[in-house]
Amino acid sequence: MSATPDPSAHYKSEIQRLQSIIDGTRAGTWEWNVQTGETRFNERWANMLGYSLAELEPTSIDTWLALTHPDDLTISEKRLAEYFAGTTDFYECVIRMRHKQGQWVWIEDRGKLISRSADNKPEWMTGTHIDVTEAHSARVERDEVSRRIEKISATIPGVIYQFTLSPEGVLGFPYSSEGMEQIYGVSQEEVREDAEILKKIIHPDDLERVLDGVIESAEQLTVWHDEYRVIIDGKVEWREGHSTPERMADGGTIWHGIIMDVTHRKKLEQELGVYQGRLEQAQAIAQIGCWEADIKHQSAWWSDINYDIFGLPRDYELTMETFLQHVHPDDVDMVKRAEAQAEYQNGYEIKHRIVRPNGEIRWVHEIASIEYDDNGAVSRFIGTVQDITDYKKLEEKLRLQASTDELTRLANRRSFMQSLAHEYARYERHPEAVASVLMLDIDFFKRINDTFGHAVGDDVLVQLAQLMAERFRKTDMLGRLGGEEFAVLMPHTLADEAEQVAELVRQAIADMDIVVNGVERPLSITISIGVSQFLPSDQRDDEGLLRADKALYQAKSNGRNKVVAYQNKKG
Ligand code: GH3
Ligand code: MG
Ligand code: MG
Repeated sequence: MSATPDPSAHYKSEIQRLQSIIDGTRAGTWEWNVQTGETRFNERWANMLGYSLAELEPTSIDTWLALTHPDDLTISEKRLAEYFAGTTDFYECVIRMRHKQGQWVWIEDRGKLISRSADNKPEWMTGTHIDVTEAHSARVERDEVSRRIEKISATIPGVIYQFTLSPEGVLGFPYSSEGMEQIYGVSQEEVREDAEILKKIIHPDDLERVLDGVIESAEQLTVWHDEYRVIIDGKVEWREGHSTPERMADGGTIWHGIIMDVTHRKKLEQELGVYQGRLEQAQAIAQIGCWEADIKHQSAWWSDINYDIFGLPRDYELTMETFLQHVHPDDVDMVKRAEAQAEYQNGYEIKHRIVRPNGEIRWVHEIASIEYDDNGAVSRFIGTVQDITDYKKLEEKLRLQASTDELTRLANRRSFMQSLAHEYARYERHPEAVASVLMLDIDFFKRINDTFGHAVGDDVLVQLAQLMAERFRKTDMLGRLGGEEFAVLMPHTLADEAEQVAELVRQAIADMDIVVNGVERPLSITISIGVSQFLPSDQRDDEGLLRADKALYQAKSNGRNKVVAYQNKKG
């Protein structure tokens, strides 16, 4: 027996070794004679498509042709031609093949020519099939997601992006959507590796702030947000950016975010600002403040003018509750009532007093409108407030003027008659509230005028009025009805008591020395007084006054310088 090793045994073991390597790669294998179409597959090749090799026997190139997607056959043929032509080093192609169950399996198909015919035509080729369905579907999904993102980003008036800051401080946009062109006027490619160019595009006045913001966001890993200007084609536009940072493994930072074109909004805001400025100016001139009150939270907001009106510092802690502390105590109920009834009146309008911290009382005019929430409940008051103290003072002055006799400063006829009507109305409601009425007329006043002149006569009227105001009681109301005729209304006073008071006044006048300019001897003056009181039989408010006038007439005819009480002829 020869000890020479069996060469075929050596090859067999070599083939087995190779086979196990191929099995280890989980690859299907194929051998194909390009000239004859003779084809051999391994078991794994068949298993990949859900078959056993036996099921596919006898195999030929038709087996491959039948199982491969027609579209992919075209690609495969093209690749093959490229390989044969020497353009590529080996044949490679990803194809779809039909699984026994019907679905498509994605196969990475690779091959190499191992022999050529005598006339140098390609002959035997061997190759592998690797199932890449999983990897492929993941890629398909990824492609689908990025396609969708592109689609969404195309509808957003801006750019969505990944932005990186390397540890060396280099800025870049590894990913940016098509909007980059519109937002910064540069291509996606131009800023992919290095975004330095943007330093020329961001407005010089905003650049430092923007960069500081980016650095801060990177250091603190806080959301970056900024509104800034860019200059594109020489035009200033506004951009707003939001992005969220993340630390990268190399210590750099990556942001995912969006930058939008907010030029239009900014323009509107600026216009609004100008308008608000004008409104504020107008309100400052008119001293009108505005305010808002949130019913639900009981919170309130004031414009600056309000603080001035209330004499409070700008940092005063204002709420609906603290506001009420500054309303005049006598007006708090009215304010609360107005607020409570606002819903039914569609707001309110009131004038009330407030008290400044220094005790000063001011008048304010408030107009409020209401806002409702989704449930139809009152949610907010929005209003204006105006300091009307000066107006109130003027109003008071005018009111006084309209009711006062200019010469004597007593109530004039109109005002006296109003008081009389008022008092009489009270008497009608409460008959126990009897009031008395006096009519007074100076005796022989004509002579004063005739002797000393009208001006002296006037002076005498003033002094007499003064004396009467002093001598009658605080609750009595004096009026000058005209000329040298006066009247007095004495609430809660019966005629008897009124007569006594009148008598004291008559005496005081008679005893009074009246000194006027240019008169050497003091004058002495007397007056006649008629007295009456409200009576249950009265039909009108001036009947008492008419009776007093009649009594006055009696006093005159009885010799003047007298007080006469009206005598009821029936009584
Ligand atoms: P007696 O009342 O006692 O009957 O006499 P008398 O002179 O006062 O008469 P009467 O009341 O009728 O006269 C009113 C006079 O008073 C007329 C006018 O000369 C004078 N008089 C009226 N109003 C004014 C006034 O406002 N100023 C001045 N200086 N005189 C007035
Ligand atoms: Mg008279
Ligand atoms: Mg008279």
